[in-house]
Parts: sequence; structure tokens; C-alpha cells
Amino acid sequence: MTPIEFLKGVGPKRAEVLKKEIGVHTFQDFLYYFPFRYVDRSVFHQIADIPEMANTPVQLKGRITGMREEGAGRRKRLVANFQDTSGMIQLVWFKGAQWIKKSIKINETIVLYGKAAQYGNKWNIPHPEMTPIQQHEKGLQPVYPSTEKLSASHLDSRGLHKLQLNLKEQVPIVFEDWLPESILKENRLITRNQAMLWVHFPKTQEQAEAAKLRLKFEELLLLQLELLVRKKIALTKSEGFIYDKVGTNFNTFYEKHLPFELTGAQKRVLKEIRSDMTTGHHMNRLLQGDVGSGKTLVALLTMLLALDNGFQATLMAPTEILAIQHHESLKEFLDGMEIKVGLLTGSTKQKDRRVLHEALQNGEMQLLIGTHALLEDTVQFKNLGLVVIDEQHRFGVAQRARMWRKNTTPPHVLIMTATPIPRTLAMTFYGDLDVSVIDELPPGRKPITTVHKKDEQRLRVFGFMKEEIAKGRQVYIVYPLIHESEKLDYNNLMEGYEAIQRAFPLPEYRVSIVHGQQKPADKEFEMNRFVRGETQIMVATTVIEVGVNVPNASVMVIESAERFGLSQLHQLRGRVGRGAEKSFCILMTGDKISPDSKKRMNTMVRTNDGFEIAEVDLQLRGPGDLMGTQQSGVLDLKIANLARDGHLVALARKVAIEILQDDPNLEKEDHSGLRGQLIHALKSRPDWGKIA
Ligand code: ADP
Ligand code: MG
Repeated sequence: MTPIEFLKGVGPKRAEVLKKEIGVHTFQDFLYYFPFRYVDRSVFHQIADIPEMANTPVQLKGRITGMREEGAGRRKRLVANFQDTSGMIQLVWFKGAQWIKKSIKINETIVLYGKAAQYGNKWNIPHPEMTPIQQHEKGLQPVYPSTEKLSASHLDSRGLHKLQLNLKEQVPIVFEDWLPESILKENRLITRNQAMLWVHFPKTQEQAEAAKLRLKFEELLLLQLELLVRKKIALTKSEGFIYDKVGTNFNTFYEKHLPFELTGAQKRVLKEIRSDMTTGHHMNRLLQGDVGSGKTLVALLTMLLALDNGFQATLMAPTEILAIQHHESLKEFLDGMEIKVGLLTGSTKQKDRRVLHEALQNGEMQLLIGTHALLEDTVQFKNLGLVVIDEQHRFGVAQRARMWRKNTTPPHVLIMTATPIPRTLAMTFYGDLDVSVIDELPPGRKPITTVHKKDEQRLRVFGFMKEEIAKGRQVYIVYPLIHESEKLDYNNLMEGYEAIQRAFPLPEYRVSIVHGQQKPADKEFEMNRFVRGETQIMVATTVIEVGVNVPNASVMVIESAERFGLSQLHQLRGRVGRGAEKSFCILMTGDKISPDSKKRMNTMVRTNDGFEIAEVDLQLRGPGDLMGTQQSGVLDLKIANLARDGHLVALARKVAIEILQDDPNLEKEDHSGLRGQLIHALKSRPDWGKIA
């Protein structure tokens, strides 16, 4: 672990920058600072091809035939004509003209490297890199990520590459391979030694690829081994209730009250849950299912199982509106059965609360629906056996742990989310959770038609809304009040509300409004008017994003849609298409939107599949962002990328499972290297197994 200042070319000053900017403290750290791509310096492009190569750097071979200074004052620049066998292009320098003029030799063959830019219909190359042909190094040149401060210390990509060369000269690097040979062979991986050399100094693209593949694989394999081992440790520690009875509650409901046949996916998931509950271990299951796939019903059946086995059950929702809706729909489902269902939210009155607390403690109240209010320590159960958490990503880990503590043996936990997480991410982030997926919608749903409209088409959108309302349908209009406290957003919402009231005047039309700054009672009043069909239009913020169920609503208009993330757009769209009618989602955006926004709109228009949308989201935002900032720092992968290396994640998982099946404690000679790495990882990484 030699400190980086002892590397040739790195004094105390540069060492400071390396530490601060990229966390490189030692020789070892620097070895693991990998290039993110390679430029093939043996390939030459032609000037004539430049218009087709926009935005990628080009390497040209040719000569400068003349140069001159143009412009004056701040626009003064040095311009040169550069010529190859296919044509001519201008080179431009806005700074350093004196030095460039001195170093250029007219008509001498040089190699030039840079990115062309277009001005009007002409192309030029600003500030190209130039090397005399005799000094040109062929082969691959690694490109290292650099920063402004690093560059200021002459540690741009090239500077970093030079340091890597120094390092190679200064200490011969010999790595022991901790992957068994059989795994290398089976997966056609090169040795660690070879990989560490080739990743920094490849001669060919193939060498660079082979090196990256090997290093990514070992990183992911170790991660998966770690997750699997952590899960095993957690499991052996976690005692859980056994539900061995299917009793009256479940059976009566299933046979007499269930208004429809369960879908195949619902049945399968229920089976998975039931098998968890017979193991004697604590269940920690994530239930993923697209909006409208019928997760609530699965939750209800699971809760009835808990009741049949003598336990109480609770369902926690992220918002008050949702808790109220769940409470109502569960009561409706259970109508005619002898089950006591309670509701507890922030606005439950003290007096009612006392009654509720008592009923929970003496076991009279069997089912409790609520919000965060459930977490309070004053809420105690006689014998809580199951916690269902709806829309998981809004609750933190600490909050969940508080639910576990509400019984001496932790209750089973079922987490439901409508934000599909790509499989490879789920495998990694939720390594310790079991995942069930409802991948089938109840029959008879018509796919939602989604369109993207610009602000100038608003009148036509209003016209369309009127047609739908005339057919008896209802319409949502959602504004991006992403931070409920932001004044500007709030003003937009209110202006929007007024504009809607003008365009849809009384007495023909009635408009509701719901947002986060209302009093809960007002919110409920407005929401209920819409639910009962007394208003045709609901102007709202994302408070209606999750769960709200109004089957007669068939149009979802999303204002400033470019400001929403993909998963939010998909969630919002899921508020319609819940009834028998054909439904529509209209994404309104400004005229000019960024390429990423454009991609989000196109994805929404193209598909209704939540998993496909989640994949695109992952590509656009990266795994850290997707899983929330709280969790982004957890996986500091050095070379693998969870978004792009999905197939490798799956392969690493498979190999990890095979290794542990063959040798659960990694005691075989062949696995001693792996064992060492794993012990190190388990010790050095904070316990994030319970992240989910
Ligand atoms: P989500 O998964 O988004 O929470 P819900 O549980 O709210 O979905 O279900 C959406 C709607 O579909 C509800 O009205 C529910 O009663 C209905 N539903 C659920 N399961 C079925 C089924 N098997 N067949 C028909 N309708 C169903
Ligand atoms: Mg739901």
C-alpha cells in the first residue's frame, strides 16, 4: 500500500489533487483507476467523411498548407488549412496562437486528432492535437476520466496514462489469481495478471475487451457471492412465524366473496408467499407488479392467512389518500365477513386513537390500515404477524425496522411496489429479499393509448377532453408539483386550475383540485367528489400518483411532462385504464425539450410495459439515481456497470450460486482466494443487506 506521492511524476501537490478528485491514495488505488474507453490510434479517417462522424473524434493524416490570423479583439483566432488526400478542412485556435504558429511546419505530414464542429454548413476542428508522423504511436490509447482540477495539474487523460506507465516501470505488478482455473476456462476469461496489464496497456481492441470482461466478471462475482452469503447469514438468524393453517377467513373469502377469478400470476405469487410462511424463517418478500395488476388482492389474501393463524395484520400506505382508499376497498371486499378493520392516519382524532389502541392491544381489531402513523411506538399489537407495505420506495429502512420490532418475533414482511425494477438490479439491490412478480394484468384491460403533444396543441387536447367527458368519462390533469413547497410550482398549478375552470365552465363542467398543501379534510372532500363522479375533471399534483383507483377516469393529461421521470410518468398513467373503457394518456411538453426528455416521451408512447420502461430508465439515469440517492453510494463498482452489464450480472449470479452449492463455506483449496476476498468484503462493507 505505497502512498501515491512516491510514484514518479507525482509530488505532494499532485498527490493532493489525486486524493481529492478521484480518491486515489495509494499505488493500488491507482491501478484500479480504469480507462472508460479506448481510442484506436491506428485507424485514420478521411476529411471527406467528417460530416457523417459528428460528435466522435477523428484522426487524420495530412499536412497544413497555410495559416493566418482572423478577427479582432476577443474573436481573434488562428486559422489553418489542413489537407489530406480526400479534401481540406480548417483548424482553429482561440488561444495559444503564438505557440502554435511557432510549432507548425507548413507542408510537413502530421497526425491530427480532434472533434470536428459545424459552423453554418462548414466544418472545422478547434484545438486539435497534433503529432509529427514520426512520433505517432499506433495502437490503442486508453482514455481515463479526468476532472478540471486534474487537468489543471496536467493530469488529463494523457497525463494519467503517463503515470500508469511510470507505475508499471516502478513496480512490477504480479497478481495472484483468486478465480479458480476451471471458472476461467468455462467462461473464457483471461488471468488477473493479464487483465490488469491489458486494461491499461492494450495493443488491440480485443485485448481491451478481454481485460474489461475479466475484471467486470470478478467484481460482479464477488458482489453476488457476498449477497448470497449475507442472505444466508440473515436467514439462519431470522426466526419467523409458521402459518400452517388455511382457515375460515381465507376460505370463506376465496369461495364466497372473491368477485373474480385470480389471474395465473396472482395464484403463483400467492403460492410463493405461502411457501415462505411454512419455513420457520422470517419472510422478506418484494412483490413487484405493474399498476393495476392486482397486488392489493394478493395482500388481502395474505392478511387473511395471518388471521387464520391467530395473528393480526397491518397494511401501511405512503399517503393518507391511499390509506383511506385501501381501507374502503378492503372493507368492501370483506363486507359480510366478521373481520374488524381499522384505519389509522395522522388525522385520526385522539379520542378515536385511544379506542383503536385498545382494540389492537386486546386483539379485537384484526386488520389495521394506515400511514406512517402506524410506526409510532404507542401503536402496539396483541400479536402482529404480518406487515404489508405498499409502494415500498417511499419508506426508509429504519422505518421498516420499527415495524419488525412490534412483536417479539418479527412479523412477516410483504413489500409491494409498482415501480418495476430491472431484474439485474433487483438481484443486486434486493439481494437479501425474495422477489415475486405479477407479470399479467387482469383480463379485459384495454391498453392505454399514449400521445405526446406540444403546448400549442392545447386547444385540441381540450376538445378531446370534452368529447370524452360527453361520453361520461372523467379526466385527470396532473401538474409537476414535485417539491410541494416550491412557490413557482404551486403558482403553475393554481394558474392551470384557473385556466381549466375557464375552459371548462360551470354549470356544464365541475372541476376538483387536490394537492399537498390542502388540509387532509379538504383533500378528502375533493377526492371523494371525483371518486363519486360529481366532478368530471381532477386537477392534481403527484399526490394522486400512487394507487388511487377511479375506474371511470379514462384520460390522464400530464402537464410539463418533460419534468417527470419515467417511472413517475408510468405511475401516473396507471391511474387510467382501470375500467372497461378505452383510456388515453396525453403528455404535454414545451416545444423544445432535451434529448433525454424526448427519449422519455417516446418510450412512454411506445410501450405500456413497466419492465421495459424501467430498463430505459436505468439506461438514462444509472442505477444509483434509480434506486434513490440514499442507496446510490452503496455499490461503488469500479468497472462493471449495472445498467449496461446486465447479462454479466446474471452470469455472475449463476456462477456464484454454483460455487456455493458445490462448496458452501469455500473450504476447497481452489476457493481459498475467493474466500479471502469475500471475508474482506463482508468486513469492509457496511451491512447494507437490509437496504430494501
Ligand atoms: P395494483 O397492483 O396497482 O395495486 P389493484 O390491486 O389496485 O392494483 O387492482 C386494480 C384493479 O383490478 C382493482 O379494481 C381490483 O379489484 C382489480 N382486480 C384485481 N385482481 C383482479 C382479477 N384477478 N380479475 C379482475 N380484476 C382484478
Ligand atoms: Mg396498489
